[in-house]
Amino acid sequence: MLKDRPYIGRFAPSPTGSLHLGSLCTALVSFIEARTQLGLWLLRIDDLDTTRNIKGSVDNILNTLSTFGLHWDHKEQYQSHYIKDYEEILFELTRNQHTYACTCNRKSLLAKQPCLCRNTLKTQEPSSLRIKINPSLISFQDQLQGLRSFQLTHQDDDFLLKRRDGIIAYQFAVVIDDNRQQVTDIVRGVDLLDSTPRQIYLQQLLGLSTPNYMHLPIIIDQDGNKLSKQNHATAVDLKQPQIVIFKLLSLLKQNPPKEIYIAPVKEQLEWAIDNWNPLPLKNLSCICNND
Ligand code: GLU
Repeated sequence: MLKDRPYIGRFAPSPTGSLHLGSLCTALVSFIEARTQLGLWLLRIDDLDTTRNIKGSVDNILNTLSTFGLHWDHKEQYQSHYIKDYEEILFELTRNQHTYACTCNRKSLLAKQPCLCRNTLKTQEPSSLRIKINPSLISFQDQLQGLRSFQLTHQDDDFLLKRRDGIIAYQFAVVIDDNRQQVTDIVRGVDLLDSTPRQIYLQQLLGLSTPNYMHLPIIIDQDGNKLSKQNHATAVDLKQPQIVIFKLLSLLKQNPPKEIYIAPVKEQLEWAIDNWNPLPLKNLSCICNND
């Protein structure tokens, strides 16, 4: 636990469309957590995957956060400005034999054909770059999901650091980014819980500190589907932000009083910060949104 450092939280959306209720929920909780700790709340745009970026979504995200009163500290950072840094660290990892080139394609991996690249020297292109895992037990205490332990195994868990198309992989970039921004506390959806041991593995390998983690239950619809762009979740309504904040505070089991139903978002957020209690969310993996 990084208790001796001032709290630095962050929200790191990918610019792949507008924020839906689930992504706004993550932003809201990480904002409230940062403010209750009198910490900083940073914004990072995870824009490395240029195949998924959608034009106009950065402006849309910035505008949405501002409309909801979620004002971030400092200027927002863009992953795409740091490509040289990722490449330099990859170069070092490779020089120290922590990586290997993999020429398997998606089709063969999906067909569960074993990847033999770890033990063969590949020089041909195109290849992706994988981490060479040393078998490790990674444990961490999640603030909502409790103690989690994952066994990372040699080969099976050799995750991608850089894709065949040259794009730096999320698992790697996020570790470098959170360290660069000195993030002490990460709040994000429980759908990323399985990524956390890989990120901790990289932090340990690179000698970086491990932040505290809080993985939030994800919001699902009546049919049990996660709200996501793939499921065509609708963008949050910017016309009546108070209604949305009130709804989110209710879904987050904060029991907001009726009096703040149509209060300005600033007042709603002040109430939320003063009364914040994440305990009712403990050990939940999802919250159902009934409308
Ligand atoms: N950019 C990631 C996403 O939108 C979030 C990364 C993170 O919070 O670690 O899913």
